[in-house]
Amino acid sequence: MLEITEQNNHENVINMLDIQRLSTEDGPGLRTTLFTKGCPLKCAWCHNPESISPKRQRVWIDTHCMGCQLCVKACKANALQMTNTGLIKDAALCADCGACADICPTGAIEVKGDKKSVDELCYELLKDRAYFEESGGGITISGGDPLMQAEDTAKLFAALQAQGVQTALDTTLFTSKEKLDLVLPHVDLLLLDIKIFDNVRHEQWTGVSNIRILENARYIAQRMRKGENPTRLWIRTPIIPGATDTVENIKAIAQFVTAELGDIFERWELCAFNNLCKDKYTRLGLDWTFADATLMRTTQMDELLAAAKATFASSVSSASLDASADSEKISWTGAVQMED
Ligand code: SF4
Ligand code: SF4
Repeated sequence: MLEITEQNNHENVINMLDIQRLSTEDGPGLRTTLFTKGCPLKCAWCHNPESISPKRQRVWIDTHCMGCQLCVKACKANALQMTNTGLIKDAALCADCGACADICPTGAIEVKGDKKSVDELCYELLKDRAYFEESGGGITISGGDPLMQAEDTAKLFAALQAQGVQTALDTTLFTSKEKLDLVLPHVDLLLLDIKIFDNVRHEQWTGVSNIRILENARYIAQRMRKGENPTRLWIRTPIIPGATDTVENIKAIAQFVTAELGDIFERWELCAFNNLCKDKYTRLGLDWTFADATLMRTTQMDELLAAAKATFASSVSSASLDASADSEKISWTGAVQMED
């Protein structure tokens, strides 16, 4: 089993990938999302493959390359080779010096990963504050998994909260209670992925067991019932062809959500697979299991949604919850195949 590793070192520095502004997908309203680098899971369908490794990575963008080979000449480690199919890097030889990216005249070698101080990030993220106030939005910290840098993530959230901004954490929950206790007091909304309920399949597709994740979800529920942060919980299930898209999986997750989170979750989204990240894998020189997978069909998404709602409704005790109102909190989102 993979161990949880602490990649950061309490330097007031966040290991980050990117900042996305005006996002509508990472919580309510218009949001600015900080993507951190480093994730304890390795989901085979990951839509942010550059966020998995905590290390800085260089990607080659073929459409920006003019074939001058200055990068090949600049590489003292002889790690680069220009071939008929493009620039190839021997990762075992690469000394991570950055000379290739520095010399490239067209920006075809892009560096993914940067370290910025908590103060710098706070300033950057608050630039969009006017949009948050107008739209009911805020700032989301996503990944990777921000809890791999729990101490500095907590500092950043605390600084943002002190400015009166609504905060959201997007996490795998594959972490310790100590780290949750550090960060959660500064989180208003928790975005939680429950991907696969069967533990063997979860490990097969994500690289880790889901036992700790589900335990932590129960712990979040306890906190919320006591009136502690987070105050809001959104659940998401990626619907991935051949991996998560069975009625059996959705029913099992629905039973867990009903039994453990039924009184506190605000919404549960079934997010249809898309392949928009295909180029990211190519640029990293990685093969992607789902490169040729097709989008889901409307009928498949409808069937999974119906299974989720039916399981939810049949499990809910009418004495404690309003089943029909609560089943409205469950929906599916995303692009699907055009039907004939
Ligand atoms: S980072 Fe340095 S060692 Fe690695 S490929 Fe580029 S120039 Fe070569
Ligand atoms: S230096 Fe840049 S433009 Fe020239 S071959 Fe290398 S990647 Fe392409």
